[in-house]
Amino acid sequence: MDKIWPKVMTTIQKQIAPQIYDLWLRPLRPGEKLANGKMEILTKNDFSAEYVRDHYGVLLESAYQEASGHAVRFAFRTDPDATPLAPPPTPKPIAQPVETPIPVSSSAADIGLLDRYKFDTFVVGDCNSFAHAAASKVADNPAATYNPLYIHGGVGLGKTHLLHAIAHQIIEKFPEKKIKLISSETFMTMFVESIRQSTANQFKEQFRSIDILLVDDIQFFAGKTGTQVEFFHTFNALYGANKQIILTSDSLPQEIEFLEERLRSRFAQGLVVDIYLPDIETRVAILKKKATMEGIDLQDDVAFFLADAIHTNVRELEGALVRLFALASMEKEPITMALVKESLRNILRGPDSRQVSIDEIQRTVAAYYKITPQDLRSNKRSRLFSHPRQVAMYLCKQLTDSSYPIIGKMFGNRDHTTVLYAVGQVAKKLKVNKNLARELKALTEMLSN
Ligand code: ADP
Ligand code: MG
Repeated sequence: MDKIWPKVMTTIQKQIAPQIYDLWLRPLRPGEKLANGKMEILTKNDFSAEYVRDHYGVLLESAYQEASGHAVRFAFRTDPDATPLAPPPTPKPIAQPVETPIPVSSSAADIGLLDRYKFDTFVVGDCNSFAHAAASKVADNPAATYNPLYIHGGVGLGKTHLLHAIAHQIIEKFPEKKIKLISSETFMTMFVESIRQSTANQFKEQFRSIDILLVDDIQFFAGKTGTQVEFFHTFNALYGANKQIILTSDSLPQEIEFLEERLRSRFAQGLVVDIYLPDIETRVAILKKKATMEGIDLQDDVAFFLADAIHTNVRELEGALVRLFALASMEKEPITMALVKESLRNILRGPDSRQVSIDEIQRTVAAYYKITPQDLRSNKRSRLFSHPRQVAMYLCKQLTDSSYPIIGKMFGNRDHTTVLYAVGQVAKKLKVNKNLARELKALTEMLSN
């Protein structure tokens, strides 16, 4: 790795603007080889781990393959101690050494805010409208409405995005306010360091002098008793002085194991808002927004196909889009359905795709009735086609979370009432027609393998 890594970096450096290279890629360090065959890459903090993985993961992996002759998957891990190989050219490291107090400042860059995590890049849907409304209220009027605001939701659903969006907006509207955004892990590391270096008082001071405290992923406080006590005091001091506190977590306060009772009830005394998995319409809107941000025109059929295939979380959806863009630029091809299928080949077969996709249903049903998927999407009216089409629509409704309008779209842009009718017909016939029941059973089995 010591020999290969410099080559990887040289390749990457040629492809990326120097400021971006210096900021995100130069600080990376190769880590250990993991048991699952992945290779660890160390980053200075959580933000860069996430950002680099999402934006440059594919590029790094292919540069590595070019340099070494074999494929690799990278796993990005935060290691603030990773020593730079060359003098770090970045004037403003995002993670500050613990000895010097973190500058509490109102510049977005200084507190490590990601530029792309703003309100105007956040897509609002049923899944997150409540969280979004609460977040913008707090950002408009810190310490006047919900305190603390506790944003709860699964991995990759936009908690960190909302947290940064709040911070961005407060900086814009209230430049005089002192803001600190930190992950619970960083809080813990800093706290432990401050004890080791006997600078605990300094540590306390810098936290208690701020106006807005945003803490990401507080589930990591679980079981860390000493850190919890310290955080409890910080929390109380700020709360008592009417300062705004915003927390995110993948668990509800009452679900975090080993969380001290008094801390738990403090967390729950403000407003707890949930973010859920977005439905397919919202997933499509997110894809379109991200594509627009990259200056890429994403066709409807492609967006629906991707959103249908990936329903785990937004981060994976974004990852798939990034892979697609990378593939399109490497192959110098336009983004077509064929290219999307190519870029998703591994994912679609992967263990994560428990839910079948509309595309898969169409292919399976077509093969079963010895017609083509195009026939299913066509306007051909003969029973030879209309029967399989109705069956396929029925299965789409049963086996995916797609709505009638979406299914209609995926069947040659049909109206949702057509799908509604087809599903109703199949359900009705199913009760009296043994052959149909057998067909559906066989198809469902084929699709669940
Ligand atoms: P979490 O912190 O909940 O694990 P993140 O905030 O890191 O999730 O979100 C993962 C990725 O998905 C980010 O790149 C984020 O921009 C994107 N994302 C999540 N929800 C949305 C949304 N509603 N609109 C736009 N992008 C989103
Ligand atoms: Mg997060």
